[in-house]
Amino acid sequence: MERSTIVRVHEGLHARPATRFVKLAKGFESDVELVKDGKAVSAKSSVKLMLLAVKENQEVTVRANGADAIEAIEALIGYLENPKAGLDDEEIHAPANDASKAAAPEPQSTSTVSDQANGLRGVAASEGVAIGPAFAHFPPDIAGQGRMLQADEIAGEIERFRAAVAAVQVRMDKVLAQDNLSAGDRGIVAALRDIAADDSLTSEAEEAIKGGNDAVSATITAASTIAADFSAVDDHYLNARADDVHAVGRQICLVLLGQDDVSLENIPQGAILIADDIGAWDLARAPLKRIGGVVCGHGGATSHIAIIARSHGIPAVLGLGDRINTLRTAQEVALDGNSGQVIIDPDAATRADFAGRVEAAAKERASLTAFKTVTPKLADGRIIEVAANIGSLEEIEAAQEAGAMGVGLFRTELLFMRHMHLPSEDMQAETYAALAKAFAPYPVIVRTLDIGGDKPIAGIEFPDEENPFLGWRGIRMCLDRPDIFKRQLRALLRAAVHGNIKVMLPMVSDLGEVRQTRVLVDECAAELKAEGVPHATFDLGVMIETPAAVLIAPALAKEVAFFSIGTNDLTQYIMAADRLNPTVAKLNDVTNPAVMSAIELTARAGVAAGIMVGMCGEAAGRPDLIPAFLEMGLTELSMSPASIQRAKKAITAMVAGT
Ligand code: PEP
Ligand code: MG
Repeated sequence: MERSTIVRVHEGLHARPATRFVKLAKGFESDVELVKDGKAVSAKSSVKLMLLAVKENQEVTVRANGADAIEAIEALIGYLENPKAGLDDEEIHAPANDASKAAAPEPQSTSTVSDQANGLRGVAASEGVAIGPAFAHFPPDIAGQGRMLQADEIAGEIERFRAAVAAVQVRMDKVLAQDNLSAGDRGIVAALRDIAADDSLTSEAEEAIKGGNDAVSATITAASTIAADFSAVDDHYLNARADDVHAVGRQICLVLLGQDDVSLENIPQGAILIADDIGAWDLARAPLKRIGGVVCGHGGATSHIAIIARSHGIPAVLGLGDRINTLRTAQEVALDGNSGQVIIDPDAATRADFAGRVEAAAKERASLTAFKTVTPKLADGRIIEVAANIGSLEEIEAAQEAGAMGVGLFRTELLFMRHMHLPSEDMQAETYAALAKAFAPYPVIVRTLDIGGDKPIAGIEFPDEENPFLGWRGIRMCLDRPDIFKRQLRALLRAAVHGNIKVMLPMVSDLGEVRQTRVLVDECAAELKAEGVPHATFDLGVMIETPAAVLIAPALAKEVAFFSIGTNDLTQYIMAADRLNPTVAKLNDVTNPAVMSAIELTARAGVAAGIMVGMCGEAAGRPDLIPAFLEMGLTELSMSPASIQRAKKAITAMVAGT
């Protein structure tokens, strides 16, 4: 018996939803299969189910055979049709912890690392600088016996293998039972536990043992086969699960060999961990407080190592590939997790430079915490809102920890980039509502989709353009694709019920763009009203980041509720100097009088019209420029959370000095 449906589970049957689906399926006696595109897999194996790569909005069939087939189909179809199935409560408001942090850290002013030229460059996976003794962690490769088993040895070898798998599961359960495990680490270990408990790995290995291979060889082969399947799927998240399969296979082999893994327990305080690869399992159990930094051959910004490093504030550079071998014998290593630079055995000047930066960062961090709760006020009574620039819900905590007075720029691009398809209206509404609730009564300014051909996303066809920065991006693309734009506007209207949502448009260069957006907003509100969906209005503002917007600022100010100056783009467009091109970096300078006058013209137009003028470009966090911006009349400065306390201090000092 079978029934088909469209999958509504948010983001499809990824790790956790797949595991829960399997748990549900296992509760029935019947054999149950899930079929997609003619391919059927057992619904009782989470690995097989993940590999089927079932995505939201795809059609699948549930097939069941047995005494309780009707009940099984009923329950499993119900699960597949529930958008929130498989998610914990907090996850409904916080999408998977991986891709968000894939966002490149905001550009920071990095000091030059002396003249030492022997630096390597890898993926800047977790920000911060570190220098310390190298701790090389290169566990020896594991090898099987290299002889075929006799027929009478096979049953015993299968028993030995099963006992090893059980031992690994018990070990992982013990780790999961620890109270001090963070939610993120727990999720990672739980994912490994799921793989260890899954039939796919064990049955693949048992088949190999039946063919005469010893248990260690069989485990290595089985893990490699399944890992290769994960690597082949067209999905970054599932690709990263290949490392997890290898990690589980390795644990099983170590138990079989009666060996302990090379432990990270003895890592000295402040050491830089050097490894080709560190299993998430090893890292989650390591004394993380002692690790000064991490440098790895494997791993990218979305790997588990990166997630753990970021959530524990450990600077990390990953993805060095084979170049990691040049660090095997290093005595000391310096790394910059903002730029991806790694320096082996730094010379005296580099060492002094890094040591100075590490010390300065620590001292500054300690002295700035006093400003967390400060509400900066100018002598004339104007409150200056120091808000955060963020791009995902996972950054809410860091922003609040820093003392953010709301969000001055929520970049919605990540929401679109991290999914394999365009995010649904519901999913967007939940995300924006979670933000609004987290910061209420402070405002949360959500920027509508600002994407162009330089950062393509699934679901939008971008033309090939000679100059993507001058092309079909931001508001231009959105107005041409009302299907995408209206979905976002409807989600924002719905979220506005839950807090102080404001909306701003990127890349505006013409008044007509604001007017057309208003028409669409009104259309969306009318639709929601007709559908009986709760919604509320929001303030509509614009980013001032094109010269055209500066020159028509007086007219724009009459049509919008606020300006937010995007100095990153404004500088590149005023100076005609690509913000990504190092050869013209000198010209790409916000302090150039041309850019500063553009900012002043904007501020004057906004103040004259009585609307709020804020800034969300990088310059907003620069203590040396803040006094000038406030004198021009800005009342809101939005920046990366790491800059907030420093900015509050600069405003406080400015007021004290007046
Ligand atoms: C800007 O251009 O200043 C800005 C804040 O937007 P983004 O850096 O996302 O282009
Ligand atoms: Mg911009």
